[in-house]
Amino acid sequence: MTDPIRPQPGILDIALYEGGAAHVAGVTDAIKLSSNENPFGPSDRAKDAFQRAVHKLHRYPNTDHAALRQAIGEVHGLDPARIICGVGSDEIIHFLCQAYAGPRDEVVFTEHGFLMYRISALAAGATPVSVRERERTADVDAILAACTRRTKLVFIANPNNPTGTMIGPGEIERLAASLPKQAILVLDGAYAEYVEGYDGGAELIGRRANVFMTRTFSKIYGLGGLRIGWGYGPKAIIDVLNRIRGPFNLSTAQLEAAEAAVRDQDHVDRCRAENTRLRAWLAEALAERGVPSDTSTANFILARFADEAEASACDAFLQGQGLIVRRVAGYGLPHCLRITIGDEASCRRVAHAIGQFKGQK
Ligand code: PMP
Repeated sequence: MTDPIRPQPGILDIALYEGGAAHVAGVTDAIKLSSNENPFGPSDRAKDAFQRAVHKLHRYPNTDHAALRQAIGEVHGLDPARIICGVGSDEIIHFLCQAYAGPRDEVVFTEHGFLMYRISALAAGATPVSVRERERTADVDAILAACTRRTKLVFIANPNNPTGTMIGPGEIERLAASLPKQAILVLDGAYAEYVEGYDGGAELIGRRANVFMTRTFSKIYGLGGLRIGWGYGPKAIIDVLNRIRGPFNLSTAQLEAAEAAVRDQDHVDRCRAENTRLRAWLAEALAERGVPSDTSTANFILARFADEAEASACDAFLQGQGLIVRRVAGYGLPHCLRITIGDEASCRRVAHAIGQFKGQK
């Protein structure tokens, strides 16, 4: 007899997700720099819209997300009919794997890529394929070499989490043009807004039928707690994903807050400018204290230590100072700590604490 509790193949290969610490025991004013959140929070306009939505709690939300898709389309110059909205970009990644990758199919991503690619691939019964990087940066030739007739999806976060690195439009275009014909290239643009002038791949999608992009309101929009993301791609893919999207996957509060947020691009511009300034400052401050990092294009820095023991000791030291950063051993980077760019005071505190840690050794 089959065991009724036994799930589909692949599910038990998924490790339970362990988020970074959110608190330090006994410390009430800990500074959390572990989840790449925007220290400035969301636009006031988004908060107001969220509060107004309380009057509609008894109503089911719109199922077609037309107003939010329209707003995203206007702001980004995209066709709203080619946009889909979901519970964070996580849900869009999940839809892609569910719809396009099944048993015997392969889902390709980079060595230090975002954890959800592997989770969603396994949940769909597909085989995750991790490809080595070069200097913590996606390597297009290695990705192409890893693709087979079974490859259905190739995920690249650009900028990548947790490395902060990105590859240029020429490399992305080369990848899209050289993939096996049954594969879709997914450009994960969770951090795209942090790169001045970068469209996340939207223009390329306008020209190619095998490229898709995911985006989020969790990062520069400061709405991680609200859980909203979106995808943009060929109409044929959007139509497929909408078949498996729950009709009420987003609440009215989510939809209306996100719409107000995307219409406040001044807030986005201010947050980007502050992030760029403080990221440069923090990278330099850490380098001066003997902690190198790669050039980051996102809202965090991947600080490199001598080895796992030093990274772990520094993490413990920072926690003792009420500073929460992120261990990234689960991403294959045990000797690194990922540090979100906080506000100026937080950046100064973390730089100072790392200096103390280095000095006491
Ligand atoms: N992609 C990348 C690269 C990320 O780092 C994250 C969040 N950590 C996501 C996607 C998912 O973000 P969300 O589900 O909040 O939109």
